[in-house]
Amino acid sequence: MDGFSRDAQQRALLGGTPLLDLLDGVGGQTPAYFYDLDGIEATVRGLVAALGDPRHTVAYAVKANTAGSLLRRVAAAGGGADVVSGGELAVAEATGIAPSKIVMSGVAKLDAELDLALSRRLLGIQAESVEELERIGQRARALGVTARVALRVNPSVDIDSHAHIATGHDEAKFGIAREALPEAWRRIDASEGWLEGVGLSMHVGSMLREPGPYLEAARVVCEEARARLRAGGRLDYLSFGGGFGIDYGEGACEPPVAFARAALDLLRAEGLGALRLVLEPGRAIVAPFGVLVARVVQTKEHQGKRWLMLDAGMNDLLRPALYQAHHRVEALDAAPSGHPWRVVGPVCESADDFGLHPMGSEAPALVVLRDAGAYGYTMASEYNGRALPTEAFVSGGRVVHVSATRGVEDWVRRRLEA
Ligand SMILES: *Cc1c(COP(=O)(O)O)cnc(C)c1O
Repeated sequence: MDGFSRDAQQRALLGGTPLLDLLDGVGGQTPAYFYDLDGIEATVRGLVAALGDPRHTVAYAVKANTAGSLLRRVAAAGGGADVVSGGELAVAEATGIAPSKIVMSGVAKLDAELDLALSRRLLGIQAESVEELERIGQRARALGVTARVALRVNPSVDIDSHAHIATGHDEAKFGIAREALPEAWRRIDASEGWLEGVGLSMHVGSMLREPGPYLEAARVVCEEARARLRAGGRLDYLSFGGGFGIDYGEGACEPPVAFARAALDLLRAEGLGALRLVLEPGRAIVAPFGVLVARVVQTKEHQGKRWLMLDAGMNDLLRPALYQAHHRVEALDAAPSGHPWRVVGPVCESADDFGLHPMGSEAPALVVLRDAGAYGYTMASEYNGRALPTEAFVSGGRVVHVSATRGVEDWVRRRLEA
């Protein structure tokens, strides 16, 4: 599982191949995302193997990266999908992921999205409120099908002190509070068969560094599952969600298989080994296997400060501006060393700032923004009249597919049509 590395000459590599060579594969076009498909597929295979029993499902959280070439590898590795919209469902299904391995999350699923999900008979539609259950039931009745629903529980376990990124402040939007679960089950049981309560799910946040707090929340789900079974309900699966962290340069995280093994052990220890286990990792599957390559357009020095201005900005990689996230920025041809440069993008916003990065005295011509495979391209925009970046897919040491930027001319034409 390669992702990013450096060779003896300190050249930056992706999947073991010099990024400079891979850049030739896209005609030198920057900014460009590169993804190591072999690394991504191996990670999914590793997780599927860790769960062992084929009933269990690694439902890759598609919102992290929706590229078809990548989803086809997830499908090939035996992965499923966690989708949050009709668009993501359509893409996941078209790349060969079986509906029986797809779960749908989201607090405000549209009727049309529910209809699509119902017509495909997904593994589970994960309801995020009691009110939503009502609407799922209505759509099921209208279509004359039974809805396989799971209840997304808000376990109200405070993981924020452990998590790198705080998500607790708006958690209330997500999931059903424990106190409301009896009412949710009551509505399912009173639905005249239109709703079939097949599971319980949770997703407590992102960037968990180790399984401890994750298991704490999962125990709540197990407790609620046992209560449902005791009350005579039937359950098919439990989903413990995603949120497995990766190392953005701020210290190692437990690898995703450690979370998978811990989840499986917990399920058995809680006496629920007969149920299907679903995991929904996004970031941990793709982030370390993607990079964004950018060109240095301009440098500036003033009062001992040095700026490195790139042709990639917050419109290409939003996480630093949105979450103060840190992505290591490094020269393509030299390991990090020496005095720091302040690396910024071209967008007319102060938040378009990738932070301080050591890159020697001479400004490099090309840089790589590391760990950009998740929540990179999927969050990209055309802000400031900028074209969406190129994406290149790497396998077996070469670029096997390119989704080229549509260029600024395309943006101009579409804006004039607006
Ligand atoms: C975003 C999301 C995930 C994936 O989160 P990661 O931090 O990328 O692993 C899983 N489940 C749900 C419901 C989500 O919204």
